[in-house]
Amino acid sequence: MESFTISVEKVDEAGYQPALRGLAHNKKQETEKMPVVAEKLANLDGGHNKFLESMILWLDVRAPRYWWQEADTFRLSTKQSESTMHTLTAELLAVNMDEPADVEKFMADNFEPQSCSVETLRWIHEAAQEKDIITIKKRLPEGFLQTRLWCMSYKSLRNIILQRRTHRLPHWKEFIRQTLAVIDHPKLLPSLERKRKTDS
Ligand SMILES: Cc1cc2nc3c(=O)[nH]c(=O)nc-3n(C[C@H](O)[C@H](O)[C@H](O)COP(=O)(O)OP(=O)(O)OC[C@H]3O[C@@H](n4cnc5c(N)ncnc54)[C@H](O)[C@@H]3O)c2cc1C
Repeated sequence: MESFTISVEKVDEAGYQPALRGLAHNKKQETEKMPVVAEKLANLDGGHNKFLESMILWLDVRAPRYWWQEADTFRLSTKQSESTMHTLTAELLAVNMDEPADVEKFMADNFEPQSCSVETLRWIHEAAQEKDIITIKKRLPEGFLQTRLWCMSYKSLRNIILQRRTHRLPHWKEFIRQTLAVIDHPKLLPSLERKRKTDS
């Protein structure tokens, strides 16, 4: 059975009304009439759905580093991550490696299931005792969970959904499902289910 971790929390979103105002300029009409126009244009790439670029979203996402590596290829967005340099050593040193409950809690809080053995954690802990930050980072498994604030436009999110909704890594589908569930205007974005030939 597959076991993976990803969670999405919406921190904020903004720009819907300004985006409609921009559409109204474009159409020389009143902003109040624009929600219907926005829904019609949202799915039309090639310039028609540029208003989606004015709608900005901030998401707090917790996911393993191997997923973040893929997420980083989406360049039209910005991220602020938890620091492994500044906080991890102190957090590791707070773990009593002779206390199974302590070890279990640290593993559950910081790693995807089955991604870090107790032996590996002990190995990382040894580096923490030496205050050797580089060795800690080198020994961290790919399943190490990191939270990042990911800021993107609806246009960037549209691109992500179209490219990743059928991706082999199940995190992508789950990321899209959770995100569409918390944002204010999911109707302006592709759904999770619809498939296109261009899906990867
Ligand atoms: C099956 C598959 C395999 C992949 N394998 C790899 C891989 O092995 N290695 C790897 O590095 N990536 C890989 N990628 C990632 C891929 O190359 C893209 O970087 C990623 O999907 C982001 O897509 P994007 O460029 O549309 O998004 P974004 O980076 O968010 O860009 C959005 C839009 O802005 C444009 N844009 C972004 N930056 C610029 C710029 N500087 N100048 C002009 N236009 C810009 C883009 O062309 C795009 O139209 C893979 C993708 C797929 C689907």
